Amino acid sequence: MTIAIIGAGIAGAAAARHLVQHGLDAVLFDKGRGAGGRLATRRSEGRAFDHGAPFVTASGGTFARFLHECIQNGTATTWGDRGVEARTVGLPGMSGLVHAALVGSEVRTGFEVAALERRADGWTLTSTAGTRAEGFDAVVLTLPAPQAGRLLAPVHETFATAAADARYTPCWTLMLAGEGIDAAMASVAEDALAGEGIAALVHNAAKPGRTADTLVAHAAPTWSSARLEDTAEAVGADLGALVARHLGLTAPFAASSAHRWRFARLARVAARGPDYDPDAALGIAGDWCLGPDAEDAFHSGIATAQALLLTVVRARP
Ligand SMILES: Cc1cc2nc3c(=O)[nH]c(=O)nc-3n(C[C@H](O)[C@H](O)[C@H](O)COP(=O)(O)OP(=O)(O)OC[C@H]3O[C@@H](n4cnc5c(N)ncnc54)[C@H](O)[C@@H]3O)c2cc1C
Repeated sequence: MTIAIIGAGIAGAAAARHLVQHGLDAVLFDKGRGAGGRLATRRSEGRAFDHGAPFVTASGGTFARFLHECIQNGTATTWGDRGVEARTVGLPGMSGLVHAALVGSEVRTGFEVAALERRADGWTLTSTAGTRAEGFDAVVLTLPAPQAGRLLAPVHETFATAAADARYTPCWTLMLAGEGIDAAMASVAEDALAGEGIAALVHNAAKPGRTADTLVAHAAPTWSSARLEDTAEAVGADLGALVARHLGLTAPFAASSAHRWRFARLARVAARGPDYDPDAALGIAGDWCLGPDAEDAFHSGIATAQALLLTVVRARP
């Protein structure tokens, strides 16, 4: 059986991992240049930034076991001294965690799914460029709810309604690099890592295995909402000035680039959890089905994969 998974973030990767571990084939489709989703790593001019989730935490269950496994095989490490319950980061960047879960699966990047269609020979996925991928026995959608909802509306009213229920806050993120960042951040107290318009300053360089003199600033939700449709250049300049003022610098750091997360953190979870409909051969997962953290997204992918596997086992003669 071959399952198409739309979205190669941690939810899609977790679903794929579980299916592959149980003998099914998983093909993931993602519109991005690489896998990772919001566990994102941006490389630019020899530097690497974690510009999505700065770290993940695990309160227990399958995600904690997965993180321990990653730590053992060198695809993750703890940041600080409090174990996986505190802060775990992927290696060499946050997307390393997603890549670790994708071992054994096929990933097709640069494939933005525009439409889904179920025919006698299975599900067909059509990309925005008109490319088709055909013959899948089932499809699991793991995109952020608004993007999932657009694909679900013509094929599954109940799941589309569930997706319409979820809400996200946006986040403008600024990646800063330049001599002096490490020195400036060394003297910043823990409680001064947020401020006017700034939700969090993350000293990227302080994480294990990262590039020196790199900093990531996440703008506050209200600041990000107010500037959501502005250009990255304009936002980068203003957010850079805000960070400089907050750190007491006379000028912003030299190199910076801004990234807009339209759907950054889940603000309202959908009323329906991760689910698989055996009659439609269609499943949903993603943070919006369970909760706001990467851990929730991972567990949602596992839950949907388990439900799918159950129907496969039940259908066996
Ligand atoms: C700035 C920021 C800070 C965060 N901080 C934390 C934190 O401290 N701790 C924590 O646990 N979590 C944090 N999170 C949240 C966490 O990153 C997410 O909950 C989790 O990564 C969601 O995983 P997912 O697989 O559900 O979705 P995603 O990671 O969003 O994956 C969905 C994938 O679908 C793809 N996609 C979308 N549309 C299409 C399409 N039409 N066709 C094909 N592919 C498509 C996207 O490219 C993406 O790769 C943060 C997120 C952000 C952005």
